[in-house]
Amino acid sequence: MTPIRSVAATLVALFLAGSPSRAQEVTTVIRAAKIIDGRGATIANGDIVVTGGKIARVGARGAVPAGARVIDLGARTVMPGLIDGHSHLTWYFNRQSRYHTGRDGDTPMQSILAAAANASATLMAGFTTIQSPGSPEDKDLREWIETQGLPGPRIITSLVALQRGSPDTLRALVRERKAQGADLIKLFASASIRDGGSQTLTDEQIAAVCSEAKAVGLRTLIHAHSKESVKASAKGGCTEMTHGMFVDQEALDMMASHGAYFQPQCTLVLSNYLDNRAKYDGIGNYNAEGFAAMEKALPLAPDVIKRALATKGLKVTYGTDAVAGAHGRNAEDMVCRVQKSGESPMHVIMSASSVTAESMGLGARIGSIAAGYEADIIAVDGDPIADITSVRRVSFVMKGGKVFRNDGLPAQR
Ligand SMILES: [Zn+2]
Repeated sequence: MTPIRSVAATLVALFLAGSPSRAQEVTTVIRAAKIIDGRGATIANGDIVVTGGKIARVGARGAVPAGARVIDLGARTVMPGLIDGHSHLTWYFNRQSRYHTGRDGDTPMQSILAAAANASATLMAGFTTIQSPGSPEDKDLREWIETQGLPGPRIITSLVALQRGSPDTLRALVRERKAQGADLIKLFASASIRDGGSQTLTDEQIAAVCSEAKAVGLRTLIHAHSKESVKASAKGGCTEMTHGMFVDQEALDMMASHGAYFQPQCTLVLSNYLDNRAKYDGIGNYNAEGFAAMEKALPLAPDVIKRALATKGLKVTYGTDAVAGAHGRNAEDMVCRVQKSGESPMHVIMSASSVTAESMGLGARIGSIAAGYEADIIAVDGDPIADITSVRRVSFVMKGGKVFRNDGLPAQR
């Protein structure tokens, strides 16, 4: 072989080795002591057969198909890849240990590298899909993760959130986001918790956004703290309300009767701000008053979830509002919801998988370990049904059939 031909052969070999289609053609059998399917069922000593990036079969341990590789996860517990319905991957602490703002001197390239690090930390923590409400950089992150090999969760994004404008202006902004490639619309209907959380838009403005979004086929995620803003959003036909720190029973009932989803936070977002106070302090509403408001709200949060779970017909999704400092700790609200809101471990696992998938319109594609679903599969050390803190100990992550993490146990043939 001439040198040129040998270089060409090497390039072809490298191309084939790196080609995703080749990797996905390999059949993989994931074997574990316990499989939680994300819909409330468990399988003891089961197999999950993965082909072409999708789950081909799940059930009792069976014969290994010819040529398949076996990943035996031993005593670990297997679950669907987790879903965080509220994560801000572009928020980060800069190298001066301060919350990044547009005026801190970081270049756009440095900022996107920080977001890539957050994406990787999120995936390694077992979260294979996140919803970002939202930032313009999400568009490139979403594409680079989907098609360019950047390790990170699937991103569902609103791009830039809507905050103000006449009903007509807001309707035009909804159509603009649609044209820009947004997966959903994020709207601020109330002030931040640091500013009291009261309603900031009229009922008419809220309804304009949610009806226009529905007309163009987009879901709506509404930032709403006060009971009034939650009720206006439910009446306005919005898809999902997030936060709801000051909801009353009537607001909870209204979300249920309008078929809206509710995405409350249990601890991560507020405790992360309080734990990292020095990094946020003095920027915008991260001031003495803002921190006092967050300190006051933190102990109220588990009770909001307790009341939401007790509300008949209300679907409670999982969304941590992970900001700078919180990425990779997205499972903390699962622990909080079990330990402080009294939710059962199985119920919170379903919330962070099939229920949140359904809320995002992806219930037939992700969030369950079932035939035909994307092979988004994770494993934790221990049994989360007996000890919910085991969701902190993710040791295996597969997304779309590709293994991103497998601590300790190499893949076997
Ligand atoms: Zn948020």
